[in-house]
This record gives sequence, structure tokens and C-alpha cells, in this order.
Amino acid sequence: MPRGKISRAAQVSRSVNNTGVVRERGTGVGRAADGGPGSDGQARPTAPTPLDVLVIGAGQAGLSSAYHLRRRGYEPNTGFVVLDHSPAPGGAWQFRWPTLTYGKVHGMHALPGMELTGADPERPSSEVIGAYFAAYERAFELPVRRPVDVSSVRDGTDGRLLVRTSVGDWAPRAVINATGTWDRPFWPRYPGQETFAGRQLHTARYPGPAAFAGQRVVVVGGGTSAVQHLLEIAEVAAATTWVTRRPPLFRSGPFGPEEGRAAVAMVEERVRRGLPPRSVVSVTGLPMTEAMERARAAGVLDRRPMFDRLTRSGVAWDDGRFVEADVVLWATGFRPAVEHLAPLRLREAGGGIALDGTRAVRDPRVHLVGYGPSASAIGANRAGGAAVREIHRLLGQPTPVAA
Ligand SMILES: Cc1cc2nc3c(=O)[nH]c(=O)nc-3n(C[C@H](O)[C@H](O)[C@H](O)COP(=O)(O)OP(=O)(O)OC[C@H]3O[C@@H](n4cnc5c(N)ncnc54)[C@H](O)[C@@H]3O)c2cc1C
Repeated sequence: MPRGKISRAAQVSRSVNNTGVVRERGTGVGRAADGGPGSDGQARPTAPTPLDVLVIGAGQAGLSSAYHLRRRGYEPNTGFVVLDHSPAPGGAWQFRWPTLTYGKVHGMHALPGMELTGADPERPSSEVIGAYFAAYERAFELPVRRPVDVSSVRDGTDGRLLVRTSVGDWAPRAVINATGTWDRPFWPRYPGQETFAGRQLHTARYPGPAAFAGQRVVVVGGGTSAVQHLLEIAEVAAATTWVTRRPPLFRSGPFGPEEGRAAVAMVEERVRRGLPPRSVVSVTGLPMTEAMERARAAGVLDRRPMFDRLTRSGVAWDDGRFVEADVVLWATGFRPAVEHLAPLRLREAGGGIALDGTRAVRDPRVHLVGYGPSASAIGANRAGGAAVREIHRLLGQPTPVAA
């Protein structure tokens, strides 16, 4: 494969959003030999840079898509680029807490064309996956630029899209959106949230159990993250309380391809109808592990129904029950990070973006990979290939590179 040149930001001024993602505001990426737009953070280039496909996000979904674009003959930088606003390779994995070791993640799936072998199960998954993605980007010479923030995607001219970014504008013929969910932690609203004198944080900022030593911790949420938090916090905390809206659904026994397909089909059906995708756990249930069995026997997984309000010193139920707390940890999930697509008006009345496969029903130039049914490592892999196949059909051929 021809070697693509990737120009790097020379100077970066950074700000941090609420999940700790570092975003570039002005930059020194020049209008360079690689054909990318230049910007000094003030003046935008008069004309956006044309290219065939722009991939937003360099997690599992974006890298899988980029791999398939290369295989189809799209030229790095001139034919396609991948933009990511995180500071390093790894997608959202780079932000996950240090005690989420590689051995604790369930079902990490290798990217196409390169196995992830020999990883130490005791090493943080943020390091393992970060290193693996970095090696992958190098091995396939994928044109990933970071940190570059995509602020909007809208209809452009000549049938192209217009993509606004922190380093200038692009005019692709198609966009693969692979922005995941990590940047949009979901905090439900409950009365008294503002008056609680203790600490509140979301999974997106969970630092590991040591920060909770000797404290009384309420964990909110019925997903895998909530359970993982509880298991490790219970080892060091003065007390833990688990609250969920619905009784958690524990699953024991094998979860084979058939069960996987059934779960994906349920989410797919919702997304086809333009409804917001549901969480994976809501369709698969919580896989019961030995550590969870032990925690259940010790009472750590005795779940209470959702409290009705927070008070200054804890959480309270309308029936008079009250639990004192120093910390409320909201393990309440994430939503798709797709605000930048708002100008395209892809949303249906049901609140979601209707997809046919990975293609947005309202705009065939836009594909969402890692959204809804493909929001898993294995799903994102497959969806990357499917999106590129369809885009290739739509565009005909990659635009030939000028000699
Ligand atoms: C705690 C946790 C554990 C999980 N464990 C597993 C597991 O064990 N197995 C599994 O299959 N799945 C797991 N998942 C789901 C997992 O997130 C997906 O499987 C997969 O890794 C997501 O890949 P992605 O590429 O869609 O998203 P991400 O990895 O989130 O990548 C999206 C990228 O897009 C970038 N981005 C976002 N918005 C913009 C923007 N506007 N401009 C530029 N860049 C942007 C981000 O910087 C990020 O790098 C887990 C999820 C969580 C929250």
C-alpha cells in the first residue's frame, strides 16, 4: 500500500470537556502536501477540502471502517481521512479506569486484519487497547488526525457534505460517523441533586476504587459498569448501596452466537424504526461471573429500587427509607455522541436516527458505525465493512489521485 503522509498539529491549545476529552481549539495543521485543510484557528480556508470519505472517530468502529476503505482503494489523506478529538490512539478505551484490566473486559474483538495476541490480562485495558490501536494505525498506515474535533456536518454544495472541524472544513462525498457514546454520559435528573453535600460522579470519571476508601457509596444503575464498580468499591468502602430502576436481569449459562444474534436483532429493529437504541444490557442481561456470585452471597448485589430524591446527606425513598451517603456514583450509561450531525436533521419523531443497515435513511451519504446494533467491538468491526461496501456502491469509484 502506498504510504500516506499525515501532518501533525504543530501547536495545540486544549480545553477539557466534562468527560475529560481534550479538545483542540486552534492548531497548526497546515494546508500541506497531504491535502488537508489548513487553519490558524481564525481564518477558515475559503474552500473546504474535497475528498471521498471522511470518518469521524478512531475507535473500533472508525478504524475498522478505515481499514476497509484502504482495501477498496481509497487513498489515505486525499481519498479519506479519520478525525478524532481524543489525544491518543485507543478510542474511548484510553479513558477507562485503571482497574478495568484487560482480563475483566468481556469479548474484546480484534480489528480486521490484525490479531490482538499475548495481552497481559492484568494490564489496564486502556493501555492494552491503546497500544493495539496505535500499532494497527501504523501497520495499515491509516490517516488518523488527532486531536481534531468535528463540530458539525451539514449539507454542502455539489452533492457533497460540509464538515466543520477545529482545523478547517472538509467537503466529503460521504461520511462514516463512528463517534461512540463515551462523550455523552447520561445523568438522570432527580430532585435534590443540587443539595447533596457529598460527591457525585459518573462512570465516565470513575477513577478506580481507592478514591472511595472508608466512604459510604451509593451506586446507581443496572448495567455491567455498575456491577463492576460495586464489586471493587465494596472491598474498600465503609458501605455500598446499589439502586436500579428495574430489577437487574442476571444471566448465567453460555451466551453463544445465537443469543448474540437475537440481542442484536432486537436493537436493530428499534433503530430501523427510528427509536433511540437501547443499552446492550437491556437486551442481553448481566452475565453472572464467579466474582459476582461471591458478591451476591456477601450481600453486595442486594439491589434496592431507585430512590425518590437526594437530600443533603444521602438518598431517600418516599416510603420513609433513607441511606446516608458520601458519594453517589451514577453508572447510568451513555447516549450516542451525534450532536454534530444535528444540521442534517436525521432524527425521527421517535428520537433516534433511523438506519437501514448502517445507512441513515434520511441521507444515504451518511453511515453510522458503532451505533445501535453495531455498538460493540464485534458489531463495529462488521459494520465498518458493510458501510464501506455501500459507500463504494454509492460513489462508484474512489476519485483518482491527480498525478
Ligand atoms: C465501560 C465500558 C466497557 C465496555 N466493554 C466492552 C467490551 O468488553 N466488549 C465490547 O464489545 N464492548 C464494550 N463496550 C462497548 C464499547 O464501547 C464498544 O464495543 C466499542 O469499543 C466502541 O467503539 P466505537 O469505535 O464505536 O467508539 P469509541 O471507542 O468511543 O470511539 C469513538 C471515538 O470518536 C471520537 N469522537 C467522538 N466525537 C467526536 C467528534 N465530534 N469529533 C472528533 N472525534 C470524535 C472519540 O474521541 C473516540 O475516540 C464497553 C463500553 C463501556 C462504556
